[in-house]
Amino acid sequence: RRQLHEKKRPLLGSLDIFIFSLIAGLLIYWFLFRKKTEPVLDFKTFPANRNVVVFYGSQTGTAEEFANRLAKDAHRYGMKGMAADPEEYDMSELSRLKEIPNSMAVFCMATYGEGDPTDNAQEFYDWMQGTDDDLEGVNFAVFGLGNKTYEHFNATGKYTDKRLAELGGKRVFDLGLGDDDSNLEEDFISWKEQFWPAVCEFFGVEATGEDSSIRQFELVVHNDINMNQVYTGEMGRLKSFQTQKPPFDSKNPFLAPVSVNRKLNKGGNRHLMHIELDIMDSKIRYDAGDHVAVYPINDAVVVSRIGERLGVDLDTAISLKNLDEECNKKHPFPCPTTYRTALSHYLDINNKPRKNVLYDLAQYASDPQEQENMRKMASASPEGKALYQSWVLDSERNILAILEDLPSLNPPIDHLCELLPRLQARYYSIASSSKVHPNSIHICAVVIEYTTETGRVYKGVATNWLKNKEVTENGHKHTVPMYVRRSQFRLPFKPSNPVIMIGPGTGIAPFMGFIQERAWQKEQGKDVGETILYFGCRHKNEDFLYQQELEEFERVGVLTQLNIAFSRDQERKIYVQHLLKKNKEQLWKLIHSNNAHIYVCGDARNMARDVHTAFYEIAEEVGGLTHTQAVDYFKKLMTKGRYSQDVWS
Ligand code: NAP
Repeated sequence: RRQLHEKKRPLLGSLDIFIFSLIAGLLIYWFLFRKKTEPVLDFKTFPANRNVVVFYGSQTGTAEEFANRLAKDAHRYGMKGMAADPEEYDMSELSRLKEIPNSMAVFCMATYGEGDPTDNAQEFYDWMQGTDDDLEGVNFAVFGLGNKTYEHFNATGKYTDKRLAELGGKRVFDLGLGDDDSNLEEDFISWKEQFWPAVCEFFGVEATGEDSSIRQFELVVHNDINMNQVYTGEMGRLKSFQTQKPPFDSKNPFLAPVSVNRKLNKGGNRHLMHIELDIMDSKIRYDAGDHVAVYPINDAVVVSRIGERLGVDLDTAISLKNLDEECNKKHPFPCPTTYRTALSHYLDINNKPRKNVLYDLAQYASDPQEQENMRKMASASPEGKALYQSWVLDSERNILAILEDLPSLNPPIDHLCELLPRLQARYYSIASSSKVHPNSIHICAVVIEYTTETGRVYKGVATNWLKNKEVTENGHKHTVPMYVRRSQFRLPFKPSNPVIMIGPGTGIAPFMGFIQERAWQKEQGKDVGETILYFGCRHKNEDFLYQQELEEFERVGVLTQLNIAFSRDQERKIYVQHLLKKNKEQLWKLIHSNNAHIYVCGDARNMARDVHTAFYEIAEEVGGLTHTQAVDYFKKLMTKGRYSQDVWS
């Protein structure tokens, strides 16, 4: 009876279990994701003794670096500064900044892609667009980071400056516009030199004469640490490379095995490669036109040579701890770690150091002449600028070359690690379609390698590292930490719209994905419009990338036209834009009457601009437009998403 009774009314019925699990599930979900949905800090808990907050919209780390430099400078004027990621603050509380006496918000805002804000500034940008908050009493200044080779030069910086003023903010100093096509750092320094005197005047303060080369982080050496607690290259969670858990993103990259790595060119002394990353079981999704971000590792030989030159045991476990305990950023890179890991995974040791690095390191040069030269290069004097230009920039000296060529320079390695910028992920246009290759992502890239003025060999970090990731004879596959970044570079919604793709050199990459997708659409029985490719390379027998695949796509009618400009197979150069001009009537008809979508990928500085000009000429010559009308015509096509670019410089 008892048993029966118990069976009838169990302690927990299935409904109870369901409700209990639901509540437990919700609690676990809240616990796991609460941090992501709430800002880490809001302005109510803003460190009270700070009055200069420098927000950065940064994609590749430069804006963040500049923000740190400005925050550090503030000390020289008796102000307390801090750099801040807008993603970590509730920016809708910006108006409350005025509650902090003598405060100011500075914005270092980079423009990304086609005039877009960076990922970490997107939310702030959306807020500015939608808000009608009153920012009266909020003092601000903006420095924009952009590149003149792109259509929407510094769009984000300009918008931030304009919008904050419209909302009633008080502009302390004029908008600065940095141009990465000439010398971004020089633009920043020139702006900064006028900015601080303006700030002094505005707040009635004076320079204290205090040096801004003070340390931001202190060194902690871990002599007795469990190596399981030491970061080995992870971007976020410790041990995330051992136990991989989706979703994968910039803080949690997926370790994708390299399943194919083959040389694409038949001749010449360059190495162009096709790489396939296996994303099976990763739950990573992508669309043709997206970018794959890859975290490279610095050359182990260069890392070891830095250690040898500074006489340091690179395998020492250390942490760099922020001296400012209230600052959000506790460490400059994941800590605890070893110097070797920091120099291999986290720090950019391959590029030419910026002026502030030279300035801060100069104190460690024991030879007065070397010290003077370093200080001179960091200064804004015409002589210093010229020396920095020739000795660092033109001669392409990275930190190792500087240490080698200035024998009396002996900085403590921890200070060097504090000063070097973070090694950034590299973005490649995905060269495959997920409809055809749902489990792999293809990359097409050229290995960067050349000899510099000082006779050293410059090797691009990521491409040289990727080149060596070959499948071994026993089938072992190397892995690559990666994630996918969504883009706006998309095939037309209606497959029947014609597409005109222009991609010389490695600019062919996204079009391999597009063509595969058009082939797949055809197979699905869709009405697929004309698919036209303009590709360019040096010699037919040397670097005609994907020749077999492209000719096959043409043979089966997926590519309705394959135009190739072999630039060096004859005396006079032939480029893609020359072929465009040759087919001007057909092209104008496709664009003007048949709703064709145009795509350009590859070099921004010359090719993309020349192709643009060719289209203006076609509109003028065939369409009978004036030059102004032609410019306007293609501007409208861009706004409608019918002229898209995926270009780099
Ligand atoms: P590439 O093999 O150097 O060039 C492809 C073809 O384009 C060649 O036939 C070349 O002709 C031609 N070309 C040169 N100038 C042109 C112009 N103004 N208009 C049209 N065609 C032109 O291409 P790549 O190695 O793939 O590199 C393309 C560009 O992108 C290079 O400038 C490279 O530095 C840059 N790139 C940048 C990155 C990055 O991440 N920043 C990565 C890869 C490539 P000639 O050489 O005979 O003049």
